[in-house]
Amino acid sequence: MLKKVLIANRGEIALRILRACHELGIKTVAIYSDADREAMHVHLADEAVCIGPASPMHSYLNIPAVISAAEITGADAIHPGYGFLAENADFVEQVENSGFIFVGPDAQTVRTMGDKISAIKTMKNAGIPCVPGSDGPLGKNDQENSALAKKIGYPVIIKASGGGGGRGMRVVTKEDDLASALSMTRAEASAAFGNPVIYMEKFLVNPRHIEIQVLGDGHGHAVYLGERDCSMQRRHQKVLEESPAPGISKKQRQQIGLLCVKACQKLHYRGAGTFEFLYENGKFYFIEMNTRVQVEHTISEMVTGIDIVKEQLLIAAQEKWLLKQDDIKIKGHAIECRINAEDPNTFTPSPGKITTYHAPGGPGIRVDSHIYQGYVVPHYYDSMIGKIISYGETREIAILKMRNALKEIVVEGIKTNIPLQQRILADPGFVAGGTNIHYLEEFMKNFVE
Ligand code: ADP
Repeated sequence: MLKKVLIANRGEIALRILRACHELGIKTVAIYSDADREAMHVHLADEAVCIGPASPMHSYLNIPAVISAAEITGADAIHPGYGFLAENADFVEQVENSGFIFVGPDAQTVRTMGDKISAIKTMKNAGIPCVPGSDGPLGKNDQENSALAKKIGYPVIIKASGGGGGRGMRVVTKEDDLASALSMTRAEASAAFGNPVIYMEKFLVNPRHIEIQVLGDGHGHAVYLGERDCSMQRRHQKVLEESPAPGISKKQRQQIGLLCVKACQKLHYRGAGTFEFLYENGKFYFIEMNTRVQVEHTISEMVTGIDIVKEQLLIAAQEKWLLKQDDIKIKGHAIECRINAEDPNTFTPSPGKITTYHAPGGPGIRVDSHIYQGYVVPHYYDSMIGKIISYGETREIAILKMRNALKEIVVEGIKTNIPLQQRILADPGFVAGGTNIHYLEEFMKNFVE
């Protein structure tokens, strides 16, 4: 078993990993920036190392500082969480070359999946359905690109191969706009991601975002933990997630789940991962794979009873892995609301001191958060301050529990998106289920001044 894990992250996920480690009898090392001295994960870890100033570039993204912290504390493994260095293949390589276990896939897998074109190519070869598209980088020949777009059929979307976080994409609805969209996306990709390579896909007009959670042991054994519906998005950022996805039949779940498992077996995938799909007219289209634990892993945990972070640690420790597909049963329904420190109407971040905090509770309510009364939300990092997860035997019950929780929670001193979450939970469209990825932005036009 692992003895000591360095948690290369902050916030709620650092706390989540810390709890899993402690339950497994693993000691923890927290790292923190100057701005996070009073953070919960620092207080609760067995050891804590300051790795630099507030700016992420100089702390949580500073690879030599993170690795030195592991060295001086004698950690044997590093868990990256999500964001920061979690999908940085160079980091994985340096962690492994320095003699530590990386809790996640090997560097090559992280690199392949981090590049969208190579990820799509790999998945296609592994039998995963993908969005019809250029199947590779676009050249500079305008005529060829125009012929390709015509063949795929407008609207098309131009995407940066190195893109992420919902950036580096442009939709083109007619031929006249194609050439300029290509050159603009190329220039943006080059500036934002240091990689000018772009590709083309059919733009699906009204899809849902449905993803499959997998776990693999790195030796060809893998399982899937059902699906999550993450269609409630704003600017490609997920706001609310649920599992199972409304309207997806057992048969559909099994079909797509088994395809993902087969791909993991073929790739000898190691650790937790997510296959993200767009879903339209009964069909799944792969868009990308995340090679890490995700924010919304919690809802899969609730409906399967499996602790994904513990499984990550067991896989990394090369413990005999006993999880079998037949043992995984989807039961009940779970919803996650992300709570952000932001203005619910303008979405501008709202850092500052939390003067009052009261967490919701009761059966079927889980709160994953690092905040406490008196905590100061720093302005340097992501605005998410926690997640509320509700679980019930049915979707209706999970909704009722979430409504209660959103009524009970008190966060004062800063602005939060709780009013937005309350509006979503009260909305008949959401209650009906199965809304597409554009729904939330349309819905918000009804009440944002
Ligand atoms: P990122 O890595 O930046 O998150 P993704 O490829 O996962 O990029 O796409 C992010 C979002 O962009 C998707 O959830 C979806 O809303 C939209 N999107 C991406 N590709 C398409 C497509 N082919 N058709 C329609 N929408 C798309």
